[in-house]
Amino acid sequence: MIPVNEPLLDGNEKRYLAECIETGWISSEGPFVERFEHGMAARMGRRHAVAVCNGSMALDAAVAALGIGPGDEVILPSFTIVSCAAAVVRAGATPVVVDSDPLTWNMRPDEVAARVTARTRAIMVVHIYGLPCEMAPLLEVAGRHGLAIIEDAAEMHGQTWRGRPCGSFGAISTFSFYPNKHVTTGEGGMLLTDDDALAERLRRLRNLAFAPPRRFVHEELGWNLRMSNLQAALGCAQLERLDEFVRRKRAMGARYDARLRGTPGLQLPLPRTDDAENIYWVYGLVLDDDVPFDADEAMRRLARRGVGCRPFFWPMHEQPVFRRMGLFAGERLPAAERLARRGFYVPSGLALGEAQIDAVAEAVRATLAEA
Ligand SMILES: *Cc1c(COP(=O)(O)O)cnc(C)c1O
Repeated sequence: MIPVNEPLLDGNEKRYLAECIETGWISSEGPFVERFEHGMAARMGRRHAVAVCNGSMALDAAVAALGIGPGDEVILPSFTIVSCAAAVVRAGATPVVVDSDPLTWNMRPDEVAARVTARTRAIMVVHIYGLPCEMAPLLEVAGRHGLAIIEDAAEMHGQTWRGRPCGSFGAISTFSFYPNKHVTTGEGGMLLTDDDALAERLRRLRNLAFAPPRRFVHEELGWNLRMSNLQAALGCAQLERLDEFVRRKRAMGARYDARLRGTPGLQLPLPRTDDAENIYWVYGLVLDDDVPFDADEAMRRLARRGVGCRPFFWPMHEQPVFRRMGLFAGERLPAAERLARRGFYVPSGLALGEAQIDAVAEAVRATLAEA
């Protein structure tokens, strides 16, 4: 079986982890945490970085730090991971979802502009699967209405929009370091901001809202979102290789493209837009409507051929948990609904070899030939 993801950990990971154990620094107090924060901030051109336990809780902390709560609306794509809408709902605010572009799979700026109301406080910009969102119209709408931007750059380490790093846009940017991301710490996340007060607030929220003058006396509630020195040690080793990882992902995408181009019934990822070259967080495929089976069936057939796949996201407006809360009633977003049913991704991890890519592509072509 070719696994859907296998990370690459053959740089300084072992050396830095051994250093943690030899020095005894394993908690969040250890020196790798700040080193990793400084490295990410420098790389993305931000003043501050706050390392946390995962990318999902980074979004919760971002929403909380901006003071978004009951009565407020946050606009976000429906086609994304549940973490995005969950952060808004847990804050007591209302998520407002928009549809996606059928080719880039990213949120549509025209729909964002159309959904702004007097209650809108923020736009959660989520870059999907390897290409950045169209930032120019999103920044324009946010500027015109005085909305904060929360940039979810969890899939975008090393990507740029018109040469400017993803992770540098808006009030707060967030990252994840789950093992299928371009930089991994096993579990981990980070928030980046240029705002001194926001950074301070994020650090407080991360650490149970401990604050002077008396530890254990609390004016507000935070969480324990701290990243350990062990995780940050991995992060430092991984970040050293980010450029190499991005090159590797692009080469993988190009190899898949070359072997799958022209396969009847198959839509491939866009290799580039006017603003960016794809970094292929995952290599996604979308079945044409005339293919007589859906993504679930395609993945079953590929599993029988020894290829591990994963489905695309399921839209927020079709989530049972949110529908039961009375959210998104009557919402229809055809592009997001179609991507969920026709889209899946093939093995895309950094440890994937060329022979494996060729075998996966061959299995995909054979599966489509059965249609
Ligand atoms: C992976 C991911 C997250 C969540 O990150 P975790 O570290 O797994 O909690 C959030 N947003 C997007 C877009 C992601 O891809």
